Amino acid sequence: MIIIMHDNAKKSEIAAVEERLAKFGFQTHPIYGEKKTVIGAIGDKRQIRMSEILLMSGVENIVPIMRPYKLASKELKKEKSVIDVGHGVTIGGNKLAVLAGPCAVEGREHFLRMARIVKAEGANILRGGAFKPRTSPYAFGGLEGEGLKIMREAGDELDMPICTEVMDTRDVELVASYADIIQIGARNMQNFKLLREVGKTNKPIFLKRGLASTIDEWLMAAEYIMSEGNDNVILCERGIRTYETSTRNTFDVSAIPVTQELTHLPIIADPSHATGNYKYVAPVAKAGIAAGADGIMVEVHDCPECAESDGPQSLKPEKFADLMADLKKIAAAIGKEI
Ligand code: PEP
Ligand code: MN
Repeated sequence: MIIIMHDNAKKSEIAAVEERLAKFGFQTHPIYGEKKTVIGAIGDKRQIRMSEILLMSGVENIVPIMRPYKLASKELKKEKSVIDVGHGVTIGGNKLAVLAGPCAVEGREHFLRMARIVKAEGANILRGGAFKPRTSPYAFGGLEGEGLKIMREAGDELDMPICTEVMDTRDVELVASYADIIQIGARNMQNFKLLREVGKTNKPIFLKRGLASTIDEWLMAAEYIMSEGNDNVILCERGIRTYETSTRNTFDVSAIPVTQELTHLPIIADPSHATGNYKYVAPVAKAGIAAGADGIMVEVHDCPECAESDGPQSLKPEKFADLMADLKKIAAAIGKEI
């Protein structure tokens, strides 16, 4: 439920309400607006005497949250979340985010080269996998700790945030110590222990949609992270499994406006994993931005045929540059910057 405080309610009144709710076993999440503060309260309503809260000084009203996800819901927070991901970059505001880089970190020289290229073409966040979820146990699984170090070096050299995946609860601390943004991959979207663990960190979480997940399941996964106290969740639509086989997955463009109606969290489009084919990456990226996404994640590789993973969907630097030029026009047409 949401406790709506009167305009300009005093800090002491807000604190008193929070304290009373905590006494009834509720978790509280105050959201401070310009004039109004609302307090999200999550807990067992049967344990509480509503009238007791309603009569407290500074309380205007109490309204239930109807959706199964509470903290992620727009019912609780109407304004869009703008997430600070470090190095002066935010996701969710007027400036579009461009996360780019190879699928996997393959080596120091290569990653640094790719990082410099994508930055020069306008990317503002570096992506790369150090721990790679692979369908085959025999495929390249990533450079792990070494990969994290390489990414950090590139991020620091170029003053850019880095986004990288964690696959196991045992690696969360390690990944959080290097990354600016922690990615939860599609295959782990419902790994609830992992979601809780990253929810305990203070790093923004890049939550990819599960291969066959509904939007409600996806938002419930965000809720798991947020319920541990980490509100900084960024959604990523990366295509879902359908009966269509001509693309690796099917990009669900409508997930962009639908999630924006349901949640205050930002959403990024990933045309690379959605299509699995470099030829379709640019049109799908453009569709994502035109539909209102807060940015894109794109895989870029200077030698797709030699890539350790996801070569077929990787854009060569020239193609990435062309895409950025087109996205600038689309961004301008919809009143955004890139
Ligand atoms: C990736 O970003 O490289 C990745 C493995 O993505 P997904 O989890 O969407 O398949
Ligand atoms: Mn990939």
